[in-house]
Amino acid sequence: MSEQFIFQAETRQLLNILIHSLYTEKEIFLRELISNASDALNRLQFEMLTNDEVVDGQADLEIHIELDDEAKTLTISDTGIGMNRGEIIAGLGTIAKSGAKAFIEAMQDKPADAAAIIGQFGVGFYSAFMVAKQVDVVSRSFRPEDEAVKWSATGGANYTLETVERDARGTAVTIHLKDDEEEFTRGFRIKDIIRRHSDYVAFPIYVGDDEEPTNKQQAIWRRAPAEVEAEEYDSFYKMLTMDFTGASHHIHMRADVPMQFYALLYIPGSGQQNMFSPRTEPGLKLYARKVLIEEYNRDLLPEYLSFMQGVVDSEDLPLSVTRESIQATRVMASLKKTITRRVLSELKRLAKNDRDKYLAIYQEFGAFLKQGLVIDTEDRRDLEPLLFFQTTHDDDPRAFYSLDEYVERMSENQDDIYYVVADDYASGARSPHLDVFRQRGIEVLYFTHAVDAMLPMGLVDFKGRKLVSVDSADLNLEDVGDVSDEVEEPTAALTTDSFAALTARVKATLGGRVSDVRESKTLLGSPARLVSEDESANRYMYRINRLLDKDYELPVKALELNPRHPLMHNLSGMIAGGGDGALVGAVVEQVFETALLQDGIHPDPSSMADRLTLLMQAATGSASADLDFADVKSVISEPTVADAPQIDLGDLEIENASPPDER
Ligand code: ADP
Repeated sequence: MSEQFIFQAETRQLLNILIHSLYTEKEIFLRELISNASDALNRLQFEMLTNDEVVDGQADLEIHIELDDEAKTLTISDTGIGMNRGEIIAGLGTIAKSGAKAFIEAMQDKPADAAAIIGQFGVGFYSAFMVAKQVDVVSRSFRPEDEAVKWSATGGANYTLETVERDARGTAVTIHLKDDEEEFTRGFRIKDIIRRHSDYVAFPIYVGDDEEPTNKQQAIWRRAPAEVEAEEYDSFYKMLTMDFTGASHHIHMRADVPMQFYALLYIPGSGQQNMFSPRTEPGLKLYARKVLIEEYNRDLLPEYLSFMQGVVDSEDLPLSVTRESIQATRVMASLKKTITRRVLSELKRLAKNDRDKYLAIYQEFGAFLKQGLVIDTEDRRDLEPLLFFQTTHDDDPRAFYSLDEYVERMSENQDDIYYVVADDYASGARSPHLDVFRQRGIEVLYFTHAVDAMLPMGLVDFKGRKLVSVDSADLNLEDVGDVSDEVEEPTAALTTDSFAALTARVKATLGGRVSDVRESKTLLGSPARLVSEDESANRYMYRINRLLDKDYELPVKALELNPRHPLMHNLSGMIAGGGDGALVGAVVEQVFETALLQDGIHPDPSSMADRLTLLMQAATGSASADLDFADVKSVISEPTVADAPQIDLGDLEIENASPPDER
């Protein structure tokens, strides 16, 4: 007696799309069904590690394909884990993956794109309906107490289920081909598809009465790297990740001592999540002696390399362990160490010998490496050579340089490495902090990526050179570099008395919003800058909190004024003349807020608009008595809490791995 069921709504939509698709590569349905069979065999193998009570315990683990050109059917059967009634309803009646829903939504928006995107999406079992007018599935679970079931559907809204007799463990999927899809009953055609799409499947695939399996079965990662073609690496990556844009690099390792293992790792081409990829979770596929132990293992690489994809296969991992306890074994720890070393040295090699390729990878995944440098301090030294930055050495924002290159170019008497933290290259280049560096020809690194703000927490020094922010209060560059001759004779500085009166007035206006107001020894063309008196890495906490979207308070900094700047002269004159307190106050506020803006830390730049308008009115002749500066309030308030907030770097999920100024 068969019973009728209705497909879940998403499944119905997906079926509808697949049945009507004009997709030319329909043959991929075979790859999908073979992949399901292979998964089922993998899962059975895993069960057998711990479970003696398995139906057909002696059966060979293999996949058979029977072709019948009279009945126009094709049957793919496996001796895998099988499904009972509940599992078949869950597996073949509903769509669990969120990617499938995304796919359907995309299709509903643009049905014409079906052909273009269907191939990027692991359509799975349902892809059979691209070629089938009916699909029957007979399955017998590995559990002795379960009954065999038959599932049948024609692509409409319903499917049927009935209990059947079947002694053999596993699943048989029979496809009743549509009239114009008869080619899929031809043995040579099927074998050709298998060789192209499923050659690496670890279990033998037999077609018809063949005594030899069609697929080579040899796992690509177990082969000698010299014998694997570039194309094979590429197609294996695509099969593994469904990322059809391809990988940017692969690393193939084999080792015999001290442990025996094989690994094939890939650096994806893009850091953007492929919404159709089934591998949306980070982790490597872990095999122990050819048995798939874990689909997504996260213990083989440090977090900062979690963008890597691939397979690790070890002969030394104990087979009897559960997934939970495998993580604790010594073998795992040394595997992780060896693999991590190798990945880092490969990245270093690329950075040195294939700079363009490395920089493309760095654009996508550099943020991970930087995060690693801050969190995994034991790998710090290995990560440092992997860092590249834009610097003042080059006017081209596309040019990136390593720390080593910076050090090689360091100026006379220069001990430290200087960096400016800014929101992007352009605002970094305009920073008033750079005045003196330009004058003396000292190179400065741009820290412009969102995660760069936390870099100083890990990157304290490089090869014995301290990293120093250009907004440090105690910068002393007197003997460093070389003042270029062409520097114009600067305007005279304000007298000590005038400057004292000016700073007193500025202090009175800004109050607790600044820690001090004093003369700058470094400014040339800029009127003012904010310097940080906090030398600890905490100074960038607000940037990180802002990144995390947490409440943050601006750090209180000291305001340095340039006693030679015409604006300071004008202000000083107004103060001495005793005139126009409101205008002086507004200018002081604006000087302060402009400095915040230049450092990329103004919390709300548009709030300055009203004041700027009034200042322009004053500059163009309005009597300042008519201007109501009192109405314009600064959005920067005096600090309320004294202690710096602590931050848990573990919170920092790097979502967008690409720098914001990526071109
Ligand atoms: P996916 O395999 O990507 O999860 P599918 O739609 O291909 O998606 O399959 C849905 C589910 O049906 C699988 O997750 C699995 O649980 C079950 N399934 C499919 N084919 C088989 C099979 N040959 N043996 C056992 N279970 C299967």
